[in-house]
Amino acid sequence: MNKTVALHTLGCKLNFSETSSIGRLLEHEGFEKRDFDEVADVYVINTCSVTDNADKECRMLVRRIQRKAPEALVVITGCYAQLKPQEIAAIPGVDLVLGAAEKFNIAAHLKEVTKGDSAKICSCDIEDVNEFTASHSINDRTRIFLKVQDGCDYNCSFCTIPMARGKSRSDSISNVIANVEAIAAKGAKEIVLTGINLGDFRPPNPLKGEIANAVRTEKENFLSLIEELDKVNGIERFRISSIEPNLLTNEIIEFVSNSKKFMPHFHIPLQSGSDKILGLMRRRYKKDLYTERIGLIKTMMPHCCIGVDVIVGFPGETDEDFQETFNFLHQLDISYLHVFTYSERTNTLAATMKPVVPINIRNERNKVLRNLSYQKMQYFTNAHIGQTRKVLFETKNRNGMMEGYTDNYIKITTPFNEVWENNIVEWKI
Ligand code: SF4
Repeated sequence: MNKTVALHTLGCKLNFSETSSIGRLLEHEGFEKRDFDEVADVYVINTCSVTDNADKECRMLVRRIQRKAPEALVVITGCYAQLKPQEIAAIPGVDLVLGAAEKFNIAAHLKEVTKGDSAKICSCDIEDVNEFTASHSINDRTRIFLKVQDGCDYNCSFCTIPMARGKSRSDSISNVIANVEAIAAKGAKEIVLTGINLGDFRPPNPLKGEIANAVRTEKENFLSLIEELDKVNGIERFRISSIEPNLLTNEIIEFVSNSKKFMPHFHIPLQSGSDKILGLMRRRYKKDLYTERIGLIKTMMPHCCIGVDVIVGFPGETDEDFQETFNFLHQLDISYLHVFTYSERTNTLAATMKPVVPINIRNERNKVLRNLSYQKMQYFTNAHIGQTRKVLFETKNRNGMMEGYTDNYIKITTPFNEVWENNIVEWKI
């Protein structure tokens, strides 16, 4: 009888796409997939370092597994596993900890572990992680998250991602195209390009040092990637998951505005509307540049949906600084916010910065911006009432209802109708 495996993702869409790929890889090795709530022979948890409670969540999940399937092998991988392997190995019930370079070698590692032995750690120095492994999710076949870039060379003072995922590296354009064609052949209509620092897409680089830097400036970059993808048949829609404002060039904005396949939807991290705080965060732009980007997008695509990441309660953020962020976002023509409350991360520069903002004030600021986000979303949606836009409906029947998104990311919910499943429908909002 085949062995069974159940997988669980904590964190972002990139993690989600990697978990999907690990699952397919294990299926290829003869494993049968089970839901995480079911009994399985092997459980894999793909962890995140950004969530506040990675540690707590991981412990809770392992306890649940132990109650349900005490003999099952428990594997922990992902960002948290790379950052704190010893801590994870010490959690009772964990059998195998796989770092950033080893997660896709899971099948080989599983052959080496036995339940009852102390947890095995397979992890290397993050500096040595060079390889890029493409992955994509295939949960609901309508919208697929395709990883085309990994890691980050930036050094934002609050962020542990470069320590967890390593240096910036990408797939080749030809390989991305091959993956997109294969996904299209399975019937998917929309692909979301994902990465850690997606705008930093560059040629795969086996070289080191100066020659490598010279090669990087040539040919393959994010703009050439989307130009090539635009020509691929079979996929009707592409979205760009998130792109740093300093890498979102005028050429990219112009290209998207003329493209039939790249949707009028951007997600652009801002993090703070105060230049002082942006400096402390070591972000690579000031708010003027951000204003310019939004201005250009809205001039070229007035109906474009724009999402913004923002962090509240960063060390040194005074009431005035927060007010400046609020005012900046309030007057900006954007559609919604993702608000994060700052929390200290071990081994980051920001964790040593003073003065820290009391937790209750951080939470209050979060509430204020969430409220603003709600209003922005209402305003953006209401402005489209009466318009007809193209909606791609998902295949899931959610208690008799179905969901879909317009080209500019307005969510539509309507009674389930199988004729619309995975189809693009002209829809009056
Ligand atoms: S750009 Fe900054 S916040 Fe984003 S992954 Fe890189 S270091 Fe982290």
